Amino acid sequence: MSSESDTTERLVDQRFDSGPSLSFPCGDPDPGAEGDASADQSAPLPCLCCSAEFPSSDRDALSAHLLSEHCLVVADLALVADLDQYCRYWAPRLRADGGLREYCFTVFTNTGPSDAAPSEEYFLLSPKLDEDRLLRERLQRVRLERVLARQQRERTMTFSRGCLFCRLQYSGRLAGFFDHLAEAHNFSVGRPDNIVFGPEFIDAIEAKLEALRCLFCDGVFPDRATLKEHMRKKQHKKINPAHTAFDKFYVINYLEFGKGWQEIQQERDEGPPTGFDEPGSDDDWSDWTEAPSSGAVCLFCDFSTVDVDALSAHMRAEHQFDFPELKSRLRLSFYQQVKLVNYIRRQMVERACLFCQETLPTRATLLEHLRAADHLRVPEPSIWDQPQYFFPTYENDSLLYALEEAEGADDDVPVFPEDAVDVRQSVLADSAVRQELGGHA
Ligand SMILES: [Zn+2]
Ligand SMILES: [Zn+2]
Ligand SMILES: [Zn+2]
Ligand SMILES: [Zn+2]
Ligand SMILES: [Zn+2]
Repeated sequence: MSSESDTTERLVDQRFDSGPSLSFPCGDPDPGAEGDASADQSAPLPCLCCSAEFPSSDRDALSAHLLSEHCLVVADLALVADLDQYCRYWAPRLRADGGLREYCFTVFTNTGPSDAAPSEEYFLLSPKLDEDRLLRERLQRVRLERVLARQQRERTMTFSRGCLFCRLQYSGRLAGFFDHLAEAHNFSVGRPDNIVFGPEFIDAIEAKLEALRCLFCDGVFPDRATLKEHMRKKQHKKINPAHTAFDKFYVINYLEFGKGWQEIQQERDEGPPTGFDEPGSDDDWSDWTEAPSSGAVCLFCDFSTVDVDALSAHMRAEHQFDFPELKSRLRLSFYQQVKLVNYIRRQMVERACLFCQETLPTRATLLEHLRAADHLRVPEPSIWDQPQYFFPTYENDSLLYALEEAEGADDDVPVFPEDAVDVRQSVLADSAVRQELGGHA
């Protein structure tokens, strides 16, 4: 444990919790305040350095202003989960005397011997500063918790609405409405347990259809009948994952930390994982499971492969750990698998036995212990089936993309008891893990 990181973290917590505008209603999130889905309605964004304000939907205007007026660049501003809270956190610090120099990296331009123009000082606020990174992680966690809480409510609420494609007036659980779209109209939006803001999602789909636009290729058609015929013939009766406007309706998009927009862009350009069923295939995430370029890494050693089946075979042969078998025997839901993978990774990073919690000095001795004591086993769910294990130990852990629900898994969605979630306890907030991942950040 690095005490320096701990101190910074406590500092962020303290500062974050102080001030009336910086409290989050985690227990019962306000239906209109779940981050991205309603970003347009929130308060204007304050400049970090002066009293200027910007429409909350216009991040670019804020960036441009920061650069031209204050010579300040905020790294990956587009990735900040809750920019309003982010700005409100930093504003009093950066506006204080010497604030920019205290918190930002500085760069001087025109410092070469032949540079005639006067040297200018530029400031960079970036997650390379511990405090900034912790703040960003915290904002992201809070957003994920809200999204999951919202999803939980949507599962149990009564939903009434006309069908998008026929005259049915539906009333019942939201999932039943999606079932109807899939069964009666062969229109699937992906797994129900990956969907959040369902009612808004349906409205957005309807708006697009009413604008006579194809959901997949965005083509515009003269009338509803032609559009219908096009979508049927071209097999365009599905959502195009390249249309980022729909990202916010998929929980998976809230699970990752710190992915740069370039990476996301690149993946999109290369033909992204879609999460949608191809016509004819039913319950299959094969599109998702296209492993990102890096390949999935073994839970216990450095072996990695882009072929998830090969990875399962490796873990079975080399480590006597049969994940597919476990998954079906324990009937693990998608979310439980995410938590189990993150739990095991965390234990390995901390050199702690996943079964008995004993810590060993090295990975080799830990592996030897796991083998000799026959502890490559999954402990009680109370140990690993915990909300803090939603948060990946490694950024962009490809294994997480490859998970599929077990046959007949309990389709349960995570529930956050109000007092059980302490975002500060998440894996990434753990300084030992951060140290371990130091080169990775
Ligand atoms: Zn300003
Ligand atoms: Zn219908
Ligand atoms: Zn089309
Ligand atoms: Zn291995
Ligand atoms: Zn053990």
